[in-house]
Amino acid sequence: MNAPLCPREGEVLDALRSGAWPAGCGEELRAHPAECPSCRDLVEVTTALFEDRDAGIQQAPIPGSGLVWWKMLMRHRQEAMGSARRTLLLVQGTALSVAGGLALLMLQLFVPGWTELVARALPAAVRGAAPVLLAVVACLALAGAPIVAWLASRRS
Ligand SMILES: [Zn+2]
Repeated sequence: MNAPLCPREGEVLDALRSGAWPAGCGEELRAHPAECPSCRDLVEVTTALFEDRDAGIQQAPIPGSGLVWWKMLMRHRQEAMGSARRTLLLVQGTALSVAGGLALLMLQLFVPGWTELVARALPAAVRGAAPVLLAVVACLALAGAPIVAWLASRRS
């Protein structure tokens, strides 16, 4: 935005925005646009824009009460559906995490040494980092699903 050409431009604009122009302004500020071309242009353009806005508000058709009621019902229904969707996503994410945790627990209980089996199946380059990778995967499985569900619910 450009710097104001006149130091009093802000005062004039504030008076215009608040609706105090010209009756609610001091005599000095009211007389200022007569001697300042920048403020005169500001008053003319802003006054024209405000008059156009007011005319638009006066001429805007008022929707029927049935349409307003129907739109309110649709909005209420969409908000309820969004809330239910968020809750469902959170429950699904939590269930997925619990299932992943139970699967890891079952593996640990019934397949002793499964981590070594997984480590042998990995390529040699990442074999040394297998315990760390398994820990990361386990953390993602346990905590990732609820986090993903929570993030998904924030977008909708
Ligand atoms: Zn001025």
